[in-house]
Amino acid sequence: MESLKERILKEGKALNETVLKVDSFLNHGVDPKLMYDMGEYFKKYFEKHGITKIFTIESSGIAPAVMTAMQMDLNMVTLKKQKSKILNGGVYQTTVHSFTKGLDYELTLSKDYISKDDKILIIDDFLANGEAALGAIRLVEEAGATVGGIGIVIEKSFQPGRKMLDEKGYDVYSLARINKLQKDIIEFI
Ligand code: 5GP
Repeated sequence: MESLKERILKEGKALNETVLKVDSFLNHGVDPKLMYDMGEYFKKYFEKHGITKIFTIESSGIAPAVMTAMQMDLNMVTLKKQKSKILNGGVYQTTVHSFTKGLDYELTLSKDYISKDDKILIIDDFLANGEAALGAIRLVEEAGATVGGIGIVIEKSFQPGRKMLDEKGYDVYSLARINKLQKDIIEFI
């Protein structure tokens, strides 16, 4: 997606060799027009995949995911990053390790928002090691539903996530794929 790559080059900051900061349009400030266009790109790629619902992970996945859901005329569900207080078996829960934040969190999904017949498109802002995506996949598959695809806004292709998801057979589509990051250098594939 050329307009996204241009924004990354213009406003993104490579903090070091692994972390890219894009606070002005994705992670803090949100550019709705750019998010809308992302939704169109994801729709174009995934519209023949028989998707029934869009899942995302709070909080930076929400903006691109809701635009995709709107474009595809589907409902969207946000996977929460906190442990559920309801302990009556009403939720699916899995532990995810965040390398960027250096901590573990509990990814939580209410059983009310998924059924065995669902084919889920998972949308997230970044793909790095693939831990967040794998956590979302575990919740979908534990519910007996199917992962229909994974849509990523910015993929850091030099980190292990993409290869790992490809090897497991998931259909991953990323709007921008970064080959190399270095302080003040951003290179696309
Ligand atoms: P993974 O689980 O694939 O290692 O990392 C994905 C999650 O970590 C994303 O949902 C995102 O929140 C965060 N993340 C990973 N790398 C970056 C990065 O370079 N910049 C920002 N802003 N977030 C990142």
